[in-house]
Amino acid sequence: MPTASLLTLAGQSVVIDCGLGVTRGLADQGFALKGLSAIVITHLHSDHYLELGPLIHTAWTAGLKMPVRVWGPTGLRRYWQGFLESMADDLAYRIHEEGRPDLAALVEILPLAVGGRVEIGPLALTAGQSLHPPLTETFALRFEGAGKTVVFSGDTAHNPELAEFAQGADLLVHEAMLAEGLAPLLARIGNGDGRLMAHWLRGHTLAQDAAAVARAAGVRALALNHLIPSDDPAFGPAVWAECLAPYWDGQLHIGTDGLRITL
Ligand SMILES: [Zn+2]
Ligand SMILES: [Zn+2]
Repeated sequence: MPTASLLTLAGQSVVIDCGLGVTRGLADQGFALKGLSAIVITHLHSDHYLELGPLIHTAWTAGLKMPVRVWGPTGLRRYWQGFLESMADDLAYRIHEEGRPDLAALVEILPLAVGGRVEIGPLALTAGQSLHPPLTETFALRFEGAGKTVVFSGDTAHNPELAEFAQGADLLVHEAMLAEGLAPLLARIGNGDGRLMAHWLRGHTLAQDAAAVARAAGVRALALNHLIPSDDPAFGPAVWAECLAPYWDGQLHIGTDGLRITL
């Protein structure tokens, strides 16, 4: 399924990106949806926020009554207003007939800025710039808390500067693609043209370049996510690991739905 991660440190949980399937994914991890309190969206591509509204709404019907803060690009406010508008009939029903709290008042949409530092309970979040043209509001995320550091690359082209941003992290979660898997994927998708291939090549990072960033950053573990391709049996975890072997000899996790990494 598309991109969504749950980070839990020092008793604070943060959902990072809300691609399709995030609600099911959190439930599968045993996460109580009514405990949702913090969400960060790295950029406004559908595979990172398509299910943001449905996640919050489902948490609300499951008992959410504490505030939820959502950080992300400035355009996120428009998405959330549109979601509330699209669900207006249901929201009015549940507030008036079921006694639910006003969902609009529970949720705060906050802009994230490169270099900005945000306190999320006991966690400190620093936002960095990722390279994902043509978008400009695209963020890498560095979380620190309980003596641990976890960095998410966000969607990004190869970005050597990320090595400084991720310096010394216990875990770097980096997006990755396999060059030899791109042409078969484009053929299989079938409704995009050369522009889709061009977007992959200028907006995403080859697995070996993700490994180079991890090495330069001196991180303890590397997890690859947002895999392109992600669902081609010809490019399973063994192929990814084999591709990475010459470039990374540290702890490696190849992302799959439900993968759990303990720090
Ligand atoms: Zn993207
Ligand atoms: Zn993406």
